[in-house]
Amino acid sequence: MIKAVRGTRDLLPPDTALWNFVEAAVRDVFRAYNFQEIRTPIFEATELFSRGVGEETDIVSKEMFTWEDGARAADYAVFKKWITSRVPGSKALAGIDPERAQPQSPQPSLIIEIDGKENFAVFRHRFTLPDYRLLKLAGEQSAPMGGKFQLRLVTADAVPDDFRALLLDDGVIIEEVSIDSPPQSVTLRPENTAGVVRAYIQHKLGDRGLNKLYYIGPQFRRERPQKGRYRQFYQIGAEVIGPPSAGSESPARDAEVLEMLATLLDRLGISDWNLELNSVGTPADRAQFNDALRKALEPVSAKMCDDCQRRAVTNPLRVFDCKVPADQPIIETLPRITQFLGEDSRKHFDAVQDILKSVGVEFHINDRLVRGLDYYTRTAFEFTHGALGAQNAILGGGRYDGLSEALGGPAAPGIGFAIGEDRLVMSLKETAEGVLRKPDVYIAPMSGMNGEAARLARELRRHDLVIELGDDTFRLKKSFEAATKAGAKYILIVGENEVKADAFALKNLATGEQVQVARGELARKIQG
Ligand code: AMP
Repeated sequence: MIKAVRGTRDLLPPDTALWNFVEAAVRDVFRAYNFQEIRTPIFEATELFSRGVGEETDIVSKEMFTWEDGARAADYAVFKKWITSRVPGSKALAGIDPERAQPQSPQPSLIIEIDGKENFAVFRHRFTLPDYRLLKLAGEQSAPMGGKFQLRLVTADAVPDDFRALLLDDGVIIEEVSIDSPPQSVTLRPENTAGVVRAYIQHKLGDRGLNKLYYIGPQFRRERPQKGRYRQFYQIGAEVIGPPSAGSESPARDAEVLEMLATLLDRLGISDWNLELNSVGTPADRAQFNDALRKALEPVSAKMCDDCQRRAVTNPLRVFDCKVPADQPIIETLPRITQFLGEDSRKHFDAVQDILKSVGVEFHINDRLVRGLDYYTRTAFEFTHGALGAQNAILGGGRYDGLSEALGGPAAPGIGFAIGEDRLVMSLKETAEGVLRKPDVYIAPMSGMNGEAARLARELRRHDLVIELGDDTFRLKKSFEAATKAGAKYILIVGENEVKADAFALKNLATGEQVQVARGELARKIQG
């Protein structure tokens, strides 16, 4: 049996009713705040995430699903180009089916005679050192006893100088050919903010002023799967982004987004949430903080986990992401960003808090909250929910004032969030059964009455009724069983007599009450 891949799962009915319930409710809320939907592709150029999320983040350094699109075709293009130009008369070519030359295989793909000598020729759009070591080994193993072979690497990618020197030392012949469409490294999106900002830049959305955009869709991270953590999971997110002149930096926007989230969670009946709020300052504040952190970490980092030892050097702020229990007492002693906030950041943060107080949204300041992405500036936040256990963050977000510029775009301050929809659904009090709309009517056609029944179903569905249509081969008893199983409120029997009289027997399955209803009255009667 083929099963869903580890970390992925099927969402099945009736649970999907809960997902639809959530999505319909959030779309309503977004509408009230004048947000509009954006849909970006689920895969993007890898570079977007390495630049837009940050090389040093867990997401980019270890969790992305990345592949080289068109690698095989590019390998084949290299092969074809070289072979057609170089060895038109080669004997070895006669029996070769290029499609089956398996350019991806680490074995030498072909043996070609050139100038009467046997050559291993290997075609790749790109070679790496490990590739080469495997090839060399394979070549040595398969050379005829005592025989000589000449290894040629034919590639479309420029071979880096140090690698080239090593190859030449080994007597390898390197040939570079050009191909029309080199492969592209692409990645399944691990989050959606980078994609939205890419679209903002690409389509010059800043010309429209302030953009208020939301998205709902799957995201992909190669994390260790556990309850509430999946490799394909769903996020509902929104971004407020625009040129500074459109007010995109205003603390009023931060507060509005936070108040909207409180409204959204309340609306879904999730009342026991906790809003944790922090400011991570401007890049200038952060630079000072990073210096201080680096100094503070120097004497202690050796006692910390491997990740923290690396972070202490490359990106000390990320130490606050550490979940290793043994490291926590050390982290507790580190300086906090709050001590390094400049005047502007301080004022901005105070203004956000003032508005939240004025609209009555409760929050807690958490000065350890730095969030997983490098480009967050100033406001950073998370909503947690007690019932979720270890993975208790339902949503997270913050400001990313420098992100557009980091991606080569214009200044476009922004603030956004992403809700984990999987976790949101888990925290609902609502049940799937409770939100599922069951059939109003099960139509049971008697023998030969499928056509009449279909006509009636069509009429009733126009009145926004949910109709389950049976089959005229079913005996009445089976139709009743099917109607009960489907949870229908009424069963409606369509027989020859009923059609002639243009009036039908309508039975309430819960009360057992049965009435004869004229065709024209049916919809009104069923709607009650
Ligand atoms: P982040 O983009 O990491 O800030 O994540 C935002 C929200 O997405 C989190 O608060 C979680 O609710 C949810 N989330 C992140 N990663 C996963 C995952 N692997 N599985 C399920 N939900 C996730």
